[in-house]
Amino acid sequence: MKKKSQHLQLNNDFFQSNDFYKRLMDSLEEYAVFTLDQKGRVKTWNTGAKKILGYEEKEVLGKNYAMFFTPQEDKLGTPKKELINSLMKNRPINEGWRVKKGGEKFWTTGFVFPFKNAKGTVIGYTKIMRDRTERQRLQDNQKQLLEIEQRAHAATRNLLKNEERLNLAQKAGRIGTFEWLIKDNEIIFTPELEALYGMQPGAFKGTYGEWIKRIHTDDVAFFDATLKLAQNTGESNDLEFRITLPDGSVRWMLSKSDVYFDEKKKPFRIIGVNIDITDRKNLEHQKDVFIGIASHELRTPVTSLKLFSNIIINQVRLGQKDQVLESAQIIKSQTNRLMRLVDDLLDVSKIQAGKLELNHQLFDAREFIDAIILETKHFSQSHKIIYKPGNVEKILGDKERIGQVIMNLISNAIKYSPRADSIVIKTSKKGERAFIEVQDFGIGIPKEEQGKIFDRFFRTTDAKDKNISGFGLGLFISSEIVRRHGGELRVKSTPSKGSTFYFSISLKQGHSE
Ligand code: ADP
Repeated sequence: MKKKSQHLQLNNDFFQSNDFYKRLMDSLEEYAVFTLDQKGRVKTWNTGAKKILGYEEKEVLGKNYAMFFTPQEDKLGTPKKELINSLMKNRPINEGWRVKKGGEKFWTTGFVFPFKNAKGTVIGYTKIMRDRTERQRLQDNQKQLLEIEQRAHAATRNLLKNEERLNLAQKAGRIGTFEWLIKDNEIIFTPELEALYGMQPGAFKGTYGEWIKRIHTDDVAFFDATLKLAQNTGESNDLEFRITLPDGSVRWMLSKSDVYFDEKKKPFRIIGVNIDITDRKNLEHQKDVFIGIASHELRTPVTSLKLFSNIIINQVRLGQKDQVLESAQIIKSQTNRLMRLVDDLLDVSKIQAGKLELNHQLFDAREFIDAIILETKHFSQSHKIIYKPGNVEKILGDKERIGQVIMNLISNAIKYSPRADSIVIKTSKKGERAFIEVQDFGIGIPKEEQGKIFDRFFRTTDAKDKNISGFGLGLFISSEIVRRHGGELRVKSTPSKGSTFYFSISLKQGHSE
């Protein structure tokens, strides 16, 4: 019993002893705990402090703790600030880079606590520090990782944007890409290329045989020969060929490719694009047709001019005065035909050079259309032209050019309604615009061709089959003139029933171009 109480007594003494406090401080191995006097000079030093800062107690006793700060921090007065800040109500955490014995830096977090005597006067400070370098590094690494991740995200976003742009460019340029892995005998079509071939995305099975199946029968032989040449020798040539879409329509493609070789210099991969060049091909074809038609159309009046000039010479020689007049009239009408053709060609080149000039003026609609109708009677009496004027008084525009449009519409109406005998012209007013329409009861225009008749050189199959003469330029020129007046030339038409062409034009200043 006695022994036990003695033991307790000993324990209590121990807990009150200096030795106890020293051991307590030293047990906090992960913490540097040291005390400072009012000026910041080291008074006590624990094992943790030795471990973290590297100094033995005797090396630091009496020295200012500013020695653990970097020279920059010291210059900024941070050591003093830490001591003063410890007196604040909300004591801040001190953190930053500090210096170990030997100069090695470490990242620390810690606190300074003021140390008071019994009267409450601050007589020194206790400083507690932890070495948080590893944690800081980890945080830095995490920060870096985060930054890298953010950069990767941004790069991916950019990539996606670039891909979007590429997709858009491909779509707009009607381009699709293919990759042919020769050794694996596999062909990959991008969705854009599948679309150009009239397929759903992912529908292309990836074999050469399947590709060949879509090539127009007349072009298979040289398509095959060119691709085999690229596959075997690496020689890649541009290639123009036709494909047949699932709906039976035919399109023109231009293929451009690059061949990649392995270390044995054997081609192993072909990457290429197919560009849909149907529009260009159609235009080229239309131009060829036009040159054919134009030379034919030019030759006819020129031949008759030559013939009738000879006839006139003979008629004059023979004194057949009455017949001379008839021949001269034929010469006049053929010359007019020639002039129209040459004028049309000139207009087209002006439009294309952006040099079609307009001279705007305000003029009386009724008088103007009456004059045009009168003029048409000179070249055709086959149709009666019925004019139904609306409440349109004055219109604003280039009188000559608007006249040319109406004239063209009337002559087309006559030309393309050989079995009908009347044409209707109507004017009406809607707001600030006058509407002018020309209606015929002729062959009409199939729906699928209605969008194309305003293109250069375009002529409907029906017009060509029926051998109705024309160059396919009048509507192109007319629609351009109307467009330059701020309107649009349009058509409503039913095959075998007839067509109505109409457009609007400004009634007042400031509404046209
Ligand atoms: P063209 O000199 O061939 O008549 P246009 O440019 O005036 O040239 O017309 C283009 C094509 O539009 C014509 O070839 C014809 O096929 C069609 N077209 C124009 N007007 C009519 C119409 N009133 N009725 C039917 N087809 C027409």
